[in-house]
Amino acid sequence: MTATILDGKALATEIRAELAVEAADFIQDSGVVPCLVAVLVGDDPASDVYVRNKQKACDRVGIDSRLQRLPEDASMEELLTVVNRLNKDDAVHGILVQLPLPEGLDETRILDAVSPMKDVDAFHPENVGLIVQNRPRFLPCTPNGIQQLLLRRGIEIAGANVVVLGRSDIVGKPMATMLMQRGRGGDATVTVCHSRTKNLAEVCRGADILIVAIGRPKFVTADMVNPGATVIDVGINRTDAGLVGDVDFEAVRQVAGQITPVPGGVGPLTIAMLLANTLHAARLQLGT
Ligand code: NAP
Repeated sequence: MTATILDGKALATEIRAELAVEAADFIQDSGVVPCLVAVLVGDDPASDVYVRNKQKACDRVGIDSRLQRLPEDASMEELLTVVNRLNKDDAVHGILVQLPLPEGLDETRILDAVSPMKDVDAFHPENVGLIVQNRPRFLPCTPNGIQQLLLRRGIEIAGANVVVLGRSDIVGKPMATMLMQRGRGGDATVTVCHSRTKNLAEVCRGADILIVAIGRPKFVTADMVNPGATVIDVGINRTDAGLVGDVDFEAVRQVAGQITPVPGGVGPLTIAMLLANTLHAARLQLGT
């Protein structure tokens, strides 16, 4: 068997086209252009690329994007002042603080300072709580993109055995929470694995849907995959051989039923969902 490729890039293009129509309607009705501000501290080249890609994507759907740069040696106070100013600025609807922050800056304190109404990454404890209670204000971009991919490509989630490999606050934990909720896009039986999990290969082999977010190049091998399973590779690893995922793509595609490539899988969907959240944030703030 050779797996069907789940083309995240193509789906992201579809979603962006929908968002462009929705954004144009919103602008026409309200006279307000949704605006996302990215806060970038320091000059990490990878973060620079991520932020530029997010800005380009905003432009494509008619969402305004601004970049707020701070120097590598910015203090907590300077960064908090910027975040507070953006919180109060009615022309700004979404705020994203690009991670990682330079050493010495308290990430949690900064993320907690972002207004929950402008928290398009859904990192604020208030928004995390709402997700857990299954009444989300925003859904975190990467898990939201994965859930959309599963739903829109007709992969049965309800009743499926889902194994999420990785328990980060950004991907693994919210992904597991979302898929176990009651209702559309949920109702899965979810197992979360991490570095202390015993018999990892065996647990993974029990998955109808295997979602991998660990940051270890080609970690998931063919013998860890149930024949016909859906494999979602979140990993982005820069190696001498180029960009690779957490899944050994060439070997696993011989066993899986569906698989996302890296690049061109989850990454573009993450950005599309950021745009969706920015538009949603603008709607919330205008009460429309
Ligand atoms: P993270 O914070 O780096 O945490 C890694 C998780 O993987 C931890 O829960 C860790 O377990 C687990 N882990 C590490 N080694 C393991 C092993 N050998 N066996 C089992 N579990 C192991 O995770 P993240 O931020 O979610 O990032 C994961 C990957 O996804 C990275 O490559 C990142 O670049 C990528 N990513 C991609 C996107 C996208 O849009 N495509 C978005 C976000 C992240 P412990 O908790 O026990 O330490």
